[in-house]
Amino acid sequence: MVEVVWFKRDLRIHDHEPLIEASKRGDIILLYIVEPELWKQPDVSDRQYHFLTEALLDLNQSLKKLGQELIIKVGNADDIFINLLNEFAIKNIWSHQETWNYWTYQRDIKLRKLFKSFNVNWIEIPTNGVVRNLSQRKDWARLFYQEMKRSPFNPPTKLSKINLKSDKIPSSESLGIEKIVYTDRQKGGENEAMNLLDSFLHERSYNYSKNISSPLYSVDSCSRLSTYLAFGNISLKQIFYQTNSYIDQHKKNKSSTSLNLRSINAFKSRLRWRSHFIQKLEDQPDIEYKNLHSGYDGLRENDFNEVFYQAWCAGETGFPFVDACMRSLVDTGWINFRMRAMLVSFAANNLWLDWKKFSHFLSKIFTDYEPGIHYSQLQMQSGTTGINTIRIYNPIKQSYDQDKDGIFIKRWVNELNDYPNEFIHEPWKSPLFRSDYTAPIIDEVETRKMAASKLYSLKAKIRNSDVTKKILQMHVS
Ligand SMILES: Cc1cc2nc3c(=O)[nH]c(=O)nc-3n(C[C@H](O)[C@H](O)[C@H](O)COP(=O)(O)OP(=O)(O)OC[C@H]3O[C@@H](n4cnc5c(N)ncnc54)[C@H](O)[C@@H]3O)c2cc1C
Repeated sequence: MVEVVWFKRDLRIHDHEPLIEASKRGDIILLYIVEPELWKQPDVSDRQYHFLTEALLDLNQSLKKLGQELIIKVGNADDIFINLLNEFAIKNIWSHQETWNYWTYQRDIKLRKLFKSFNVNWIEIPTNGVVRNLSQRKDWARLFYQEMKRSPFNPPTKLSKINLKSDKIPSSESLGIEKIVYTDRQKGGENEAMNLLDSFLHERSYNYSKNISSPLYSVDSCSRLSTYLAFGNISLKQIFYQTNSYIDQHKKNKSSTSLNLRSINAFKSRLRWRSHFIQKLEDQPDIEYKNLHSGYDGLRENDFNEVFYQAWCAGETGFPFVDACMRSLVDTGWINFRMRAMLVSFAANNLWLDWKKFSHFLSKIFTDYEPGIHYSQLQMQSGTTGINTIRIYNPIKQSYDQDKDGIFIKRWVNELNDYPNEFIHEPWKSPLFRSDYTAPIIDEVETRKMAASKLYSLKAKIRNSDVTKKILQMHVS
């Protein structure tokens, strides 16, 4: 009998329970399916596909050393599995549970039926502290920490060979994947992820809390692990384990250098937030395209202003800090949390755009696109959850706070290079203001007040509704 390990968003050999379990049972097919249909979805781009390609090559190298190559198949997962099930006597299909976009959610529902019809077990192992069929959200944090305390699995020592031909990894062009123009991107792979965690813990974490919101310094002071987590080049459990070992070792050696416990604890909290948000999507997959709270339906849906939207996407809103953040994000595929939140707040509140209409623009740009975090955060920053504090960022205040000397602005908004620092945050106030940089497309104060008034009055109306109570019960630990 043959076992299949279906690699999905877990492209690594360490802490891979399905791989360990399957390897104990005999011959294995190590499978990755490149699904052209998935890559045609409106939320993904070639930036993520290129990262994936590197991660697959890296995984293949590691598996080869254990005695077995990764088998790449290109096509619909159901067709690929039907062929395999007809060719091999497959007993079990092993994978991690996947909580990703709505397309993968529906694909997995179809596959469950298919495997049942072939009488084959699909063993989906929980991952990242996300709990399937969670009965009570209030138990979630306890379950999460219980899981994170377990030691990561070592890779299997040997994998037995099976005869099956692999397809080549197709190019993004041949799959017709949407192309993003960029100059910079992290490189995919498990080894890259391990090195990054190591450099974060030992060299970069000290100023994590201090620099977390600075667009200039967060690039180095944040862990930058998000894309590696999104593709499963590293597991959350591995990060917890290594972070805790690092703290213990440090305490044992009584070394006074380089450990900033406040920073490390802030980092660990964010790792938990990651799973907290993915759990929301696991429990309610339709938050990808529906307001979490139906009381907000119709709030912005009919007011879409295409000119505002295009200006925001292009980084040409006339607000230097907003434009610098957007241009930097488009070019590099990453920006820190606060800047993402500010960009969304500006679109949703100042420009009054519906998050559903700009979510794909952002998801395609983020190399670390993770639907559970992405849609939860879009909805939180747009104020459509009905349960979170309303937060409307003032982009001018953020500009003064996070880029006092305008260094980041000047790096990305070259039109302002020769402006004196006193006008860099609000160039329209300068007597030298020129038309090569856009004048502000909206009145920031007016639009912020209007958004606040609409959001607060609606929130007061729905505060005690049954829908709000249900959301609180379902999504708040
Ligand atoms: C509108 C919006 C959309 C976002 N979309 C994504 C997304 O698609 N993918 C994604 O990984 N993150 C997303 N985030 C969360 C956050 O901005 C990124 O996780 C973080 O900037 C990644 O950088 P890092 O790995 O250096 O994070 P670090 O600060 O080093 O944090 C470590 C890890 O914790 C997790 N994390 C950090 N902050 C958050 C947070 N606020 N919520 C949930 N998890 C968090 C990430 O997995 C991150 O890798 C989004 C935030 C906003 C406001």
